[in-house]
Parts: sequence; structure tokens; C-alpha cells
Amino acid sequence: MAKRKDDKGGKPRIDYRDTPKDKAVSRPFPTAVSRQYRVHISPGAYKRMKDHAATSADVELCGVLVGTVCRDDQGIYLSVTGAVEGEGANTYGTQVTFTQQTWDHIHRVRERDYPDAQIVGWFHTHPGFGVFLSGMDTFIQENFFNAPHQIAIVLETKTKEEGCFGWVDGKITALQRYWVGDREVRLATGEAGHSTTASGP
Ligand SMILES: [Zn+2]
Repeated sequence: MAKRKDDKGGKPRIDYRDTPKDKAVSRPFPTAVSRQYRVHISPGAYKRMKDHAATSADVELCGVLVGTVCRDDQGIYLSVTGAVEGEGANTYGTQVTFTQQTWDHIHRVRERDYPDAQIVGWFHTHPGFGVFLSGMDTFIQENFFNAPHQIAIVLETKTKEEGCFGWVDGKITALQRYWVGDREVRLATGEAGHSTTASGP
């Protein structure tokens, strides 16, 4: 077995991944941690999302996330490689909605900027009221982002907290972390509310 060497080619770098397979008992990891959905965001996609979020401190802003569904020996994970700003999105008070105009814009920009990527989720801001999914947010997730791999990111622009929600066992569930480049980001967790539609401004 090849030992991992440090950069100077000196001492072997001890690494748990080098444990021989025949010394390991085949058994699923005992808690749900191993089943957590892994989401990786490229630094460029993250910057584009955050830059859009920073354009207003008062109004909710939204956009979609694009990328690729991937798998490795630990299972399915999501690679987010781009973000498209949701220009023209209506805001009912503090609630974001996706109008036909929003979708037309998003599809146009995605085809131009990310022709090889698919829509893998959405993001929106909560300026000062915490990380959770409102009833309207849940409605959006259930109706527009209901493929198993699709996620919702919430950016709290006042407290700088972030949250990410994915589909687990039929429920929209807060994830504990995602990765931006090689940096692990611990997430604020909140509830997903019961689905409602906005009743108007
Ligand atoms: Zn919201």
C-alpha cells in the first residue's frame, strides 16, 4: 500500500483512509450523520450569490443555483457551480415570489452563462429575521424545486448567518454544513414552515 508522503517527500503522512479494507468491518455508520446530504459550492458561485444578496439590505432578493448532481463511494452529493440572479422577482412585503418574468430571465442567463449546468436549487435573503423557510418559501420549494437533489439556501444579510435546506425523508430539512471550495461552513438551522401562498402585498 502506498503511504501518503508530505510535500517534502519525508516522513509518511498517517491517514485513516489508508486503513486496510480487510481490517474493517462492513457496517453502516450508526447515526444519521453519514446520511447528511453533502453540498459543495464553488467559490465563484458563492461569490455571485453573495454579491447579489448584498445589493439590498432591506428587500428580499432571490436567485437560482446551478450545477451538477454527483456521486462517489459515499453516495449522492451536489456540486453547485453557478448562481443566476432573480431579477424581476416580486417581493410581497418581505416575501420572495418567482414570476414568469423571473423565470424568463433566469432561463436566458443560465443558457448564456452555464449552458452545461442544470438548476439545482435556489437562494434568497432574509434581511434581519433569521434563518428558516416561511410558508411561502416552502410553497416555492414544493412547487419549483421538488426534485430530490434540489436545495434552498437562506442568507441572513444582517446577522451574516447562512442556512441550507434539502429533501430528507419527505421533509424539507436544514443541513448542518456545506462546503465552499475547501472551506467547511457551519450553517444556522431553522424550521421549514407549512406551505402557504402569499395573499398579496
Ligand atoms: Zn424566505
